[in-house]
Amino acid sequence: MRFAGKVAVVTGAASGIGKAAVLKLASEGAHVFAADIDEAGGQALAAASNGRIDFIRCDVTQPADIEALMNAAAAKGGGIDIVFNNAGAGGDRAPIDEIAPEGWDRTMDLLLKSVAMGIRYAAPHMKGRPSTKNGGASIVNTASVAAMGAGYSPTAYAVAKAGVLHLTKVAATDLAQYGIRVNAICPGFINTNIFTESLEVPEASKDAAKAIIADMSAHAQPVARGGQPEDIANAVAYLASEDAGFMTGTHMLVDGGLTIGQRHAW
Ligand code: NAD
Repeated sequence: MRFAGKVAVVTGAASGIGKAAVLKLASEGAHVFAADIDEAGGQALAAASNGRIDFIRCDVTQPADIEALMNAAAAKGGGIDIVFNNAGAGGDRAPIDEIAPEGWDRTMDLLLKSVAMGIRYAAPHMKGRPSTKNGGASIVNTASVAAMGAGYSPTAYAVAKAGVLHLTKVAATDLAQYGIRVNAICPGFINTNIFTESLEVPEASKDAAKAIIADMSAHAQPVARGGQPEDIANAVAYLASEDAGFMTGTHMLVDGGLTIGQRHAW
């Protein structure tokens, strides 16, 4: 029960990694405010939670929505201790020599500005909380293996996620004086809806995409299984907890070894 008495906010909470994180934080005692544009999914999560999870509709591309989310969570919870800025989707898939300025902006708004605004509007509600005295005030941002190198994702997505890593470092230096830690998580390929619903994978390729992610043993990943949302939620819970009280401005790579590559066959 590492989060007993703590108030947490999670974006992108209705599905995949966000949903697993909500359930993990709530299972260890947090009161979780779960935010998403998917109202049906978010409401279902809250309804099954015995009051431990509240759903708040929030489109993270809208700063006013994020401000309202953080204000509402703080008003009901008495403040905020933990924030998981996680909502996201695939963004514009075009290469750099074809991308439209609007597609670039849309991707940055969804994946980078959203995280900046999440920190911006949560931090004032975290200052002065008891959790700031013992390493328990924590912001975790979802980056990706796409931030580790080129070739893991479309261009705009990769750049936005690399931006999340640097934002994490800069925000950590801004907020350390208040006892608020800021870290990032870099998932590898995780079996969620992102590969079928929101990565704008062509309809004909959706089943193949899901099969590849579900069975990474067929691909160059040392841990020969698909990553699951719970693999990431466990790491997020660690970063959110006092166990990680000396960690700030850094990231955790949870990718089954994808980025180190496989052992040579010869
Ligand atoms: P997912 O599609 O299962 O969940 C994403 C959630 O975000 C959905 O519930 C969706 O409704 C919500 N969302 C999308 N746009 C939103 C918006 N504008 N405002 C609020 N909510 C919004 O996907 P996931 O894999 O769980 O993705 C979560 C995060 O993890 C994303 O930031 C993604 O980029 C990142 N990520 C995923 C993987 C992976 O392999 N699945 C790898 C690296 C990083």
